[in-house]
Amino acid sequence: MAAYEYETHEYDVVVVGAGGAGLRATLGMAEQGLKTACVTKVFPTRSHTVAAQGGIAASLSNMGPDNWQWHMYDTVKGSDWLGDTDAMEYLAREAPKAVYELEHYGVPFSRTEAGKIYQRPFGGHTTEFGEGPPVQRTCAAADRTGHAILHTLYGQSLKHNAEFYIEYFAIDLIMSDDGVCQGVLCWKLDDGTMHLFSAKMVVLATGGYGRAYFSATSAHTCTGDGGGMAARAGLPLQDMEFVQFHPTGIYGAGCLITEGARGEGGYLTNSEGERFMERYAPTYKDLASRDVVSRCMTMEIREGRGVGENKDHIHLHLNHLPKETLDLRLPGISESARIFAGVDLTKEPIPVLPTVHYNMGGIPTNYWGEVLAPTEDAPDRVAPGLMAVGEAGCASVHGANRLGSNSLIDLVVFGRAAAIRAKEVVDAEAPVPTPNQKSVDAAFERFDSLRYAKGQIPTAELRLEMQKTMQADAAVFRTDKTLNEGKVKMDEVAGKIADLHVTDTSLVWNSDLMETLELTNLMPNAVATITAAAARKESRGAHAHEDYPDRDDENWRKHSLAYFDGNAATLSYRGVHLDPLTEESEGGIDMKKIAPKARVY
Ligand SMILES: Cc1cc2nc3c(=O)[nH]c(=O)nc-3n(C[C@H](O)[C@H](O)[C@H](O)COP(=O)(O)OP(=O)(O)OC[C@H]3O[C@@H](n4cnc5c(N)ncnc54)[C@H](O)[C@@H]3O)c2cc1C
Repeated sequence: MAAYEYETHEYDVVVVGAGGAGLRATLGMAEQGLKTACVTKVFPTRSHTVAAQGGIAASLSNMGPDNWQWHMYDTVKGSDWLGDTDAMEYLAREAPKAVYELEHYGVPFSRTEAGKIYQRPFGGHTTEFGEGPPVQRTCAAADRTGHAILHTLYGQSLKHNAEFYIEYFAIDLIMSDDGVCQGVLCWKLDDGTMHLFSAKMVVLATGGYGRAYFSATSAHTCTGDGGGMAARAGLPLQDMEFVQFHPTGIYGAGCLITEGARGEGGYLTNSEGERFMERYAPTYKDLASRDVVSRCMTMEIREGRGVGENKDHIHLHLNHLPKETLDLRLPGISESARIFAGVDLTKEPIPVLPTVHYNMGGIPTNYWGEVLAPTEDAPDRVAPGLMAVGEAGCASVHGANRLGSNSLIDLVVFGRAAAIRAKEVVDAEAPVPTPNQKSVDAAFERFDSLRYAKGQIPTAELRLEMQKTMQADAAVFRTDKTLNEGKVKMDEVAGKIADLHVTDTSLVWNSDLMETLELTNLMPNAVATITAAAARKESRGAHAHEDYPDRDDENWRKHSLAYFDGNAATLSYRGVHLDPLTEESEGGIDMKKIAPKARVY
């Protein structure tokens, strides 16, 4: 192994990731007086959160009656009864506070006539515990909500003197022999130097792993690095079989057309010009939840009613909407439609197709963001020194399916919760732990072995093989046959990591090596996804299994956990939290209202 010199840094808290979740956590930690560093592989405002269009859910009641209980009910139902009840209550209750905080930090929300935050309807968000009409709950800054939030949070983090390490790539967690996280080893991409960060708390806020699939709306940087690091540290990945397909990715390009487009009145048609969603979801139609709409679109295509030469996609119409609405509320997607589909959406429909959009699964946490290292007797045991927030984590508020606009709110609610918790568990006076040298050496060894990997397969080739396999065998429709074959294939693909070939061995701006590290992170995420999917013999939320079309609460209302030994995953399970945070007698939720039932829209 080459000898590596490294610089050391000591902090109370190191946050890995500067998307919405990482920045909200960083800001909160710094605000509490904790010495905080934020490490990020891309410039903070280039994180994928910048691309979020439609908005952020909170029951502000600015555009009609609403309350947190209705929001909680919709989230529970959206999750297909797999989310943890306490976490979902916390999300819905804290959402308004978190959004007003964003407003006060300076997020330029769109406004109503009366000057209040503008809110639009979004799929699955309803009134009166699903009995009433759709609600306008999704707070928006035109169709650039993530952009507005990310820039504001970055400015606020700087104001509170958080220290940023930009274009530093986190390679691996440093763990004590008894499982305490003590820091993270990083590689500075632009000069090739190595950096060891020791901390009392590490927060993984590394985003999703959409790039495990061939067609995804997420940025190329969404490679599940946090999940990869956690898996290598012996921690589980939870509920990975649940991958959300967004109904309206632009056909061919994968770019997102926000659900806000349907929120503003857009609708889908098949080759017969039929508004087919009316048939499948008579009440909420095009605004049924995402898994439902994606499945209906796939069904139409499979039954030969797709549009286009190959009958392989669907049309999204916005051409009936007033030009002023499009200009005011959806300026960004007008541009995307023109550039990526060559369509003038005031005149023609946009060709769309369900596309991988969000990972419900991730590193399991409690509703404070503390990572769980479950044992048989203690399913909620906390892994000391480690938190996970945002899409990298699994609190679990989205369960088997996330509602639109519930991710941005998850980022800020749980980013904030992590900071509140850190104030309690991190002793600012205590010394920073001395990093376990064995763990540091192991991280360098892994890095070095990839740097000098001289096998047969270029990284890009293996990545493509993984992406195509996942797209074919772990997509919207799933059967025992596709999942089992896919699992065998993915185990084989993952095994080829040992045969990678990295051409460039330099340490300065070596994108070949960086993409190889990313591939080694994508791989456990992908293997966990297909392994857990093949094992789950029911249909729930985004996991629609043709051989088991019904939800099976008796046997399967439980979280899956995937553990890694090398490239292979083994599964175990933990129970869903069924109890709410607050007793009904103290103003909490009426449990009868959120009891499991069939999920129809
Ligand atoms: C196109 C699009 C539109 C969306 N629209 C909406 C919407 O309208 N409403 C909604 O609620 N949700 C929306 N979502 C979902 C939501 O935006 C994402 O789930 C969310 O932004 C994820 O935020 P995050 O902070 O967890 O991670 P990200 O924003 O993805 O940030 C990850 C961060 O981690 C850093 N990082 C990763 N790996 C490493 C490493 N190894 N070393 C150092 N740093 C690392 C990156 O540099 C980055 O800063 C949308 C998603 C997409 C893709």
